Amino acid sequence: MRIATFSIGGERRVGIVDTVAGEVKPFDLPVDAAREGVLAIIDRPGVPATLSPIPLDRVEIEAPIPRPRRNIFCVGKNYHEHAHEFAKSGFDSSAAAGAVPKEPIIFSKVPETVIANRAKVKIDPAVSSAIDYEVELAVIIGKAGRGIAKEQALDHVWGYTIVNDVTARDLQGRYSQWLVGKSQDTFCPMGPWAVSKDEIDITNTAIRCFVNGDLRQNSNTGLLIFDVPTLIATISAGLTLMPGDIIATGTPAGVGIGFNPPRYLRAGDVVRCEVDGIGVLENQFEERAA
Ligand code: MG
Repeated sequence: MRIATFSIGGERRVGIVDTVAGEVKPFDLPVDAAREGVLAIIDRPGVPATLSPIPLDRVEIEAPIPRPRRNIFCVGKNYHEHAHEFAKSGFDSSAAAGAVPKEPIIFSKVPETVIANRAKVKIDPAVSSAIDYEVELAVIIGKAGRGIAKEQALDHVWGYTIVNDVTARDLQGRYSQWLVGKSQDTFCPMGPWAVSKDEIDITNTAIRCFVNGDLRQNSNTGLLIFDVPTLIATISAGLTLMPGDIIATGTPAGVGIGFNPPRYLRAGDVVRCEVDGIGVLENQFEERAA
């Protein structure tokens, strides 16, 4: 199932997307529950989608989880080629430990960074002049757990979505912790919707990113250094993962910092993130009004 959070007539709803028919069939949810987006469905397995289908072009797609309940877990340097391109960029405060990490690098983005497909990412030139893109497969947790073994890890997964882990490289490099450079307002485009875990084989799924139509990142989730079960086992060791938690699994090579000179994003640029089996997440960047 592809499940979208959307609004129509000023009201937020959640529904099953039928891309062939071009419609979305809303779940029968209380208004308050629907405000949580896909979280409402994770919390209510089996809730029926019985309302009349609505043409997709009549609704405004929102981020599948418009406001996560807590920070988004993220993984740094989790594809080999990207680990090398970032380590030699001069902005990698973790490079002293080696280009390829021996254990997953876990950081987070604050929940307020999340924006929808086609919403604008804001560049603030007073704060950063080195804005970069990172397409990533994001895992959505469905079942709580602490000390989850790798063998059981996928039982705790509800599904997947796409995020663009937008990054201010200059801020990321300035501080040994990455949170500020990763948590600027609007720096987590997410969507276009979420898919249940049966929709894709995460051990072999193509992942791509285009900037203004130019293919920059082109890889496969099978090339993750630390796979999804390893990430879940690592994070949940002593930290209880909760339903609705999101883990952005890392980005492949081809980010702007990997070029010489670097190719940072500018106002007007359009970044298109694709993960096969999920969809397309596209956002334009614009300068923040003073
Ligand atoms: Mg990232």
